[in-house]
Amino acid sequence: MATGTRDYYEVLGVGKTASQDEIKKAYRKLARKYHPDANPNDPKAEEKFKEVSSAYEVLSDPDKRKQYDAGPSFFGQGAQPGGGFRGFQGGQPMGGDWADIFGNLFGGGGFAGAFGGGRRQPRAQRGEDVSVAVKLSFEDALKGVTTKISVPQNIQCKECGGSGAAPGTAPVTCPQCKGRGAVSQSQGFFALSEPCPRCGGIGTMIETPCPTCGGLGVTRALKKYTVPFPAGVRDGTKIRLKGKGELGAQGGPPGDLYVVVQVEDSLTFERRGSDLLVEVPVTMVEASLGATVKIPTPEGKVGLKVPAGTQTGRLLKLKGKGAPHLGASGKGDLIARIKVVTPQDLSGEEKDLLKKFGEAHQEDPRVGRPGWSV
Ligand SMILES: [Zn+2]
Ligand SMILES: [Zn+2]
Repeated sequence: MATGTRDYYEVLGVGKTASQDEIKKAYRKLARKYHPDANPNDPKAEEKFKEVSSAYEVLSDPDKRKQYDAGPSFFGQGAQPGGGFRGFQGGQPMGGDWADIFGNLFGGGGFAGAFGGGRRQPRAQRGEDVSVAVKLSFEDALKGVTTKISVPQNIQCKECGGSGAAPGTAPVTCPQCKGRGAVSQSQGFFALSEPCPRCGGIGTMIETPCPTCGGLGVTRALKKYTVPFPAGVRDGTKIRLKGKGELGAQGGPPGDLYVVVQVEDSLTFERRGSDLLVEVPVTMVEASLGATVKIPTPEGKVGLKVPAGTQTGRLLKLKGKGAPHLGASGKGDLIARIKVVTPQDLSGEEKDLLKKFGEAHQEDPRVGRPGWSV
């Protein structure tokens, strides 16, 4: 049995015929005594405070009090403390004259934070994630690079400190919901609660908007971040900067910033994951007789042994000369793709030499191919 089923009059220590004034007075006394600000880390006091608040919530509202007095059928169900208090824990106390009471009790400022978010922050919203693309040169992506980026983002308005109210003024308590952020409508036995239409559920309103931000509390600015791109980042790699997205609303946390890498193409290499592909042109003579040719790698030139009789398209692998594995040690391979270059613009002497070679080397490369025999 929940403690909340206790008699509300008993909880507040008043008689059944107590006037609204007496109820208010009794509540203020008890609320002050058990308020979480005055009893930090005391779950018993908090429980008591909730109980008192719930009782007040009902008895301070003439309609609800009438229903309560009429019998347990309604209040035995959903409006008991715990049930009725739910709205408050979510930041939207329903019923009762909260703004008035706490404005007087705690000078207006002491109440925020009593239950985490505070009463006037009904819907803490996480800020949006932001995604920006950053171009890296092919070489920088291989080696890794730390670079500064600028991202247009909302920042807290410096003039109003984020309140949105012109300097020298402050947001005022919303007159419609009295700061609760929610309005409730009684429909027979049910009380529907919905975000206050006047203040948008925030509980406060700005009468004189800050001239700099127009009341938004934020301004647009270029924010600078230093982003370390690890060696081996690829086209499409996402780097997450936690909490560097757009600002949260109503005390919510900021979103994240995602930096999406765009790697520029290289004229020399083709990237295939951690492997690099390089085309290696060789002469007909080199391909026939075999040769060691110098080829480029990301770390300078190395000699590649081309075996005698190499054809166009042959792939030769240089282990560990590729791109760094992203997030792991070691490197991929460099794959050399051989392209035999046919000599052009021959002199008469060269033609003669080749003709002689052709007579000496009687070979038909088309012989033996399926479908070529007839
Ligand atoms: Zn401002
Ligand atoms: Zn309102």
